[in-house]
Amino acid sequence: MTLTAGSATTTAFDLGPARALSCRECGHQIPLAAEFACPECFGPLEVAYDFGTVTRESIEAGPKSIWRYRHLLPVPSDVQSHPNTEPGLTRLIKADRLAAALGVRSLWVKDDTGNPTHSFKDRVVAVALAAARELGFSVLCCPSTGNLANAVAAAAARAGWDSVVLVPSSLEQAKVLTTAVYDGTLLAVDGNYDDVNRLATELAAEHEDWAFVNVNVRPYYAEGSKTLGYEAAEQLGWRLPEQIVVPVASGSQLTKVDKGFTELGKLGLVEPTPYRVFGAQATGCSPVAKAFEDGHDVVQPVRPDTIARSLAIGNPADGPYVLDAVRRTGGALAHVSDEEVVEGIRLLARTEGVFAETAGGVTVATAKKLIESGQLDPDAETVLLITGDGLKTLDAVSGRIGPSATVPSTSKAVREALAARGL
Ligand SMILES: *Cc1c(COP(=O)(O)O)cnc(C)c1O
Ligand SMILES: [Zn+2]
Repeated sequence: MTLTAGSATTTAFDLGPARALSCRECGHQIPLAAEFACPECFGPLEVAYDFGTVTRESIEAGPKSIWRYRHLLPVPSDVQSHPNTEPGLTRLIKADRLAAALGVRSLWVKDDTGNPTHSFKDRVVAVALAAARELGFSVLCCPSTGNLANAVAAAAARAGWDSVVLVPSSLEQAKVLTTAVYDGTLLAVDGNYDDVNRLATELAAEHEDWAFVNVNVRPYYAEGSKTLGYEAAEQLGWRLPEQIVVPVASGSQLTKVDKGFTELGKLGLVEPTPYRVFGAQATGCSPVAKAFEDGHDVVQPVRPDTIARSLAIGNPADGPYVLDAVRRTGGALAHVSDEEVVEGIRLLARTEGVFAETAGGVTVATAKKLIESGQLDPDAETVLLITGDGLKTLDAVSGRIGPSATVPSTSKAVREALAARGL
């Protein structure tokens, strides 16, 4: 409960180190609350902190999940941690075979398919839920391009909350089923993500106890993406990679990975070495990459048309901040065709044994393109963020891959089929 509106730091909420919400445009601060737009200029709000002392040792002694970073997140200091059900501490893979295929010296794959609902969205939802509970909400909601729907419905089920999820009705069947199974309310809307988002924003204004994770509690939700940056740095032995490639939908993840790296440097948890942030989009929904190519600061909204549905946000809220982060760090943005996305999925699977969803295909294929164009330095240590699981986007590869041969159940037929492959 807010005590006085006059003092930006007076609040009775325990959201750990979070002290206020601060406008990304004008810097105006308001007390912690379920607000997302600046009362002065309508700019987006983000969490401002007052960090205490955080050491590598205190983090390493924490839970084996994102909650090891709770003293860097807008969540209660005694955030409820349930072992084995929380997102985070996913594997960082030294990707030597993919590195060889791409012609780079040192490459890592941060494999976020290992989260509870198999995408990085479990991170942002866990933080949103913890903050929403403290802010007094009791229903967990979202508009979603798919993975967020899974994460919200599952987290609500685990917490014993009701959930309300809105998705475009064109969503992959797998993502509809893997949301519906948790038995919340799931509305398939005949429209695209941007329509769904607009409807959700209306509902958020009408229902006081509904926390739309990426609308009215978005400032808290967004901070969850910092944990991808924290983890990559911790798993590299407490240092920053020189380059990181991040898929871009709303752009929130990219801006928060950058924020996470900067915070680690400021807090003395890593050497503040320079790093470059790269953004990856599918050509069929590449408003931010196009703005980068054209040298614009303003992102022109587009109507998405790509198999990378998890990234299909035509009007990305964080677009301008993505451009800022990429330009400030000396990175770049690029986009790849759906054909290249599928090739990216297959290349990652073939070289590293990791089956990514279309967003992962976008990241791998964009990295390849950036290397070929000379924008990504092949001699610099690079991390690729693989943010979702291929089992959820089987449509992208079905019809293109399958058994090497289908044979009768005789030894002769099996031997012949193997021989045909030179085996
Ligand atoms: C949502 C999503 C992203 C990007 O999220 P933003 O923060 O909106 O840019 C990346 N990968 C996957 C698999 C996603 O579901
Ligand atoms: Zn403002």
